[in-house]
Amino acid sequence: MELEGLRCRRLPVVFSARPAIIPRMKISQQLQSLISLTHDLGRVENGLAITGEGNTSAALGDGTFWVKVSGASLAGITARGFCRVDAARALALLDDPRCTEDNTGELLRGALVRPTDPRPSIETMLHALCLADPEVRFVAHTHPLGLLRILCSRAGTAPFRRHCYPFAVVTCGRHVATVGYRNPGLALARGVRTELARYRRVHGHAPRLLLLANHGVVALARTAPEALHISLMAEKWAQLLDGAHQWGGPAHLPAHAFQHLNG
Ligand SMILES: [Zn+2]
Repeated sequence: MELEGLRCRRLPVVFSARPAIIPRMKISQQLQSLISLTHDLGRVENGLAITGEGNTSAALGDGTFWVKVSGASLAGITARGFCRVDAARALALLDDPRCTEDNTGELLRGALVRPTDPRPSIETMLHALCLADPEVRFVAHTHPLGLLRILCSRAGTAPFRRHCYPFAVVTCGRHVATVGYRNPGLALARGVRTELARYRRVHGHAPRLLLLANHGVVALARTAPEALHISLMAEKWAQLLDGAHQWGGPAHLPAHAFQHLNG
């Protein structure tokens, strides 16, 4: 088995919290990459999302990010399907006593860089939390069918705690982050905040894959292609687990296998 060519160690990142000026061209390229990623995620043949399911985002490096607007579908999205949000204002809602599960969507309008833009996705706070890590620049949240077969079962996220396929280690990381069921929006974002903090404390870096029980998956990536690859590999991993149960259950990788994998 040849894995050398697939190794994808992340490059060291020099983090600048708030660059004073973001060139117009750079913003445009980032948004174009996000649109392309969103189209790929929305392809019917990928089985990751249908109708208005899922949302994506991309950091701009100046404390703001692009995120899908509420209700837009991934497949046919255009630049109008995204709005620019101030990360600090979005994150402040997590601890704002005025914010409830019922009014989160309306209060998120207050985080818009251009107040006249459409309302951002209800999962905007989740995206802000993921993008707060300097190594994460693109976030893709989808509802893949194969993953949901397992995530909506009694097994939940547990089957993904151990690896049985080396290419999933390389793409999705040695360890995945998991969150039990929470209502979308405020409750889910608070659960994600706790899990991302725990993960970073234990592993020293952000996860590449976050599994949401009874809901879906989040890919945290440096680049748009990486976000797509993590999403597709997670779905493949789920289908593989599903199939392995017809053949006596998954054969988990031995400990020594991880010495040769950059997960
Ligand atoms: Zn969702």
